[in-house]
Amino acid sequence: MCLDRRLLPLGLVLSLAFGCSHHARTPPAQAEQAESAPHDGPSDQPDPTPQTGPADQPGSPTAGFGFDVAGMDRSVAPGDDFVRYASGTYLQKLVIPPDRAQAGVMPALVDLAAQRARALAEAAAASRDAAPGSDIRKIGDFYSSFMDEAGIEAKGLAPLEPYLDAIRKISDRGALSEAFGAANRWGSGTPLSVKVDLNPDDPERHVIHIMNGTLGLPAPAYYLDRQNAHFAEVRDRYLRHISAMLHLAGVDRAEARARGILDLETRLAKAAETRIEDLPPDQPPVSPTLEKALPGLDLARFLAAAGIQGHRELIFPPFFTVTAASRLIAQEPLETWKDYLAYHALATAAPVLPRAFVDEDFAFSEKVLHGRAELAPRWQRAMAATTRAMGQALGKLYVERHFSPAAREQARQLVQNLVAALDARLSRLAWMAPETRAKARAKLARVLPKIGYPDAWPDYSRLEVRHGDALGNHLRAAEFEYQQQLDQLGKPADRAAWPLSPVDVNAEANVGRVDITVPAAILESPLFDPRADPAVNYGAIGVILAHEICHHFDANGRQFDPDGKMGDWWTPVDQEHYKGLTDRLVQQVAGYEPLPGVHVDGARTLDENIADLAGVAVALDAYHRSLQGRPAKVLGGFTGDQRFFLGFAQTWRHKYREPALRHHLAQDPHTPAAWRPLVVRNLDAWYEAFDVKPGQKLYLPPEERITIW
Ligand SMILES: [Zn+2]
Repeated sequence: MCLDRRLLPLGLVLSLAFGCSHHARTPPAQAEQAESAPHDGPSDQPDPTPQTGPADQPGSPTAGFGFDVAGMDRSVAPGDDFVRYASGTYLQKLVIPPDRAQAGVMPALVDLAAQRARALAEAAAASRDAAPGSDIRKIGDFYSSFMDEAGIEAKGLAPLEPYLDAIRKISDRGALSEAFGAANRWGSGTPLSVKVDLNPDDPERHVIHIMNGTLGLPAPAYYLDRQNAHFAEVRDRYLRHISAMLHLAGVDRAEARARGILDLETRLAKAAETRIEDLPPDQPPVSPTLEKALPGLDLARFLAAAGIQGHRELIFPPFFTVTAASRLIAQEPLETWKDYLAYHALATAAPVLPRAFVDEDFAFSEKVLHGRAELAPRWQRAMAATTRAMGQALGKLYVERHFSPAAREQARQLVQNLVAALDARLSRLAWMAPETRAKARAKLARVLPKIGYPDAWPDYSRLEVRHGDALGNHLRAAEFEYQQQLDQLGKPADRAAWPLSPVDVNAEANVGRVDITVPAAILESPLFDPRADPAVNYGAIGVILAHEICHHFDANGRQFDPDGKMGDWWTPVDQEHYKGLTDRLVQQVAGYEPLPGVHVDGARTLDENIADLAGVAVALDAYHRSLQGRPAKVLGGFTGDQRFFLGFAQTWRHKYREPALRHHLAQDPHTPAAWRPLVVRNLDAWYEAFDVKPGQKLYLPPEERITIW
């Protein structure tokens, strides 16, 4: 059976962070470089105060009652510029280090987690007691092999040669299809990307999702937007970069091949952007068969190489973009596809290839795309790779050392209070029919909170890590991860599964599992401090936790019923009302212009903005409930509500280099961090707390303020 979908949501997983790592359209290695927090991690310095949070940032986040008063700029009215009022002095002093693209609270927390993880990995590498085959030995070997720059240099390109040779030997489209399937296994570039995820129609089971695959640039707009001068410059630099990488690998006619690859990827980008209205009138919106959905492909050889032969139940989100990509397999010259595969093999392997490849990869992927001036220290890159490969094993060591059961319990209690606050809001939600409201409350009751770390740790015994084989380790780790996905097929879905490592500074909601996942590394000061004023804890970590819970009620999440099954459980009137509210939010956010002429995409960021809006409202209610009828104390001259809003605004203290901000605005599902605090404009309580008046720049008349949940 072929289970095609026209309008499957873009992804089942939604995430909080300034670094979500679930983009399907960039190659895995580059997606991690572009997105994952560890790459924006620490400078090469010891952390002097590991217990009190980011020490290298101006201002002391935990000073006094829990937020940074010295970092405010009280010369500006909160109603005119709330971000500057809350964080102006801090932001003025904040310097982005040369090897980073961003700086602020979240990057500083990433620093802290990476410094701690580095100490654990170095101890593992130095340990003489770690038994061969143990997780500690593997962490140590993986990390130290990456660190062995001289060893990597001496080997040259030899470890990648078997892969490049296999690509050179491709002589027909059958072999090409096989190579595309195999590239999925070891995490290299492929036009058709295979992923195992929940079945939206039956969240008890996993199915295979086939998606549009690898583009070397961060988003289709980089290829297709011919008006944007920045994208034109990036395309030009990308062309030279592909050529330089091929040249380093000894490939002839590197320039001409690079041009062919860029043209091919431009057509892949167009395919990924296919809209339903682009389909010819005679083409059915749902594909009748797998063969028709994947034209140009030798299906049997592709499926066998990807390890999914025998599975005929596949989901395409949505099928016609995948079909458009698949059609190119027959249309484009075989040689161009081989060049594409070879370039992406080099790009995937670049972090563990000799220095010339590392430098060329940095010059494009980091400098051009993100504006970093310097390559991050090697230990930091090694740590990012080790965390990707063995994140849970590393997380186990991390929580033993850095996360107490008491902190976990306190965070769980916070989640319970937030759920109670949202439940109360749902029970009195005027615009929703009583029967829909009852179902929404039932769904909320089913949200499974996963806090800090998993109850059961995954088994790494099948991952082979060889001392001194950095590239081999890199590829085997990708294959291990892929195989773990395949192993889920045919088994009941495990609701307790952890999609993140405890070391990740991130949080996630999975709408199929109806859960939220909040790793230990984000449950840290200044976001969460058990000793801090509750107003600040609710404003900071409280909003983050509530944001994740509210993802189950955003424009995508609301389509999933209490069991996580995609279905229609809303009345048409409720749907219409919700759409009206969310359309207004799209418009409001689209008014933000982080760079001259570049606005936030209100439609793409809608789900995240709904979660932010609802998250702040729910966390404020929960804070009020925690007072149990007593008036909030005034601390340092600030009322409880003022401290709540300031704690929230200070969470998103953030600076970007310009290319990084352009990169974010072109493809990220979140509003850029520094603009997220503006959501308070929709809350009456914010106007009351700071006496915001008509005529002030951020003032919205009551009828323009939006409340969804
Ligand atoms: Zn989110």
